[in-house]
Amino acid sequence: MEVIINGIHANLRFSSAHMIPQHKFCGGIHGHSYHVDVKVEGIRSGEFGFVVDFKKIKGMVRQICSKLDHKILIPLKNDKIEFKNLKDSVEFSIGSKNYQLPLEDCCLLPLKSTSAEELAEYFAKDLYKSLKEVEDGINKVQICVNEGIGQGACYIKEAE
Ligand SMILES: [Zn+2]
Repeated sequence: MEVIINGIHANLRFSSAHMIPQHKFCGGIHGHSYHVDVKVEGIRSGEFGFVVDFKKIKGMVRQICSKLDHKILIPLKNDKIEFKNLKDSVEFSIGSKNYQLPLEDCCLLPLKSTSAEELAEYFAKDLYKSLKEVEDGINKVQICVNEGIGQGACYIKEAE
């Protein structure tokens, strides 16, 4: 059975800034009010016959959201970004553009990009891992990361 959580109604949201290096329209720093939709498929079990308690899923997703919320998202594996410092401040260049940002304002992510696609994969894998640690019978986690209302990317993490 599948349980579904709507990110807008269940308040699974975060607001962050990012850029898509060297993209014509998205190359400059800009922001989104993201929301995260969740589907978890698994076997019903326990005293109440739940797949997973909604509260448990929401807590885990909110933890990821709060890591990203009100930060500038920086993809550490992007080959168009040349990093110069990541210790005291975050310094890097993209082509002829040079950036220096306070470390506390940034969320450094082990990703190639901070696109909705990459963020969905990041959320799905993280949630899957956390759920697996506390629940049996989880088969599949699907996450949709929406960049505002009406556009988003979904990733499905399945049992291997
Ligand atoms: Zn964007």
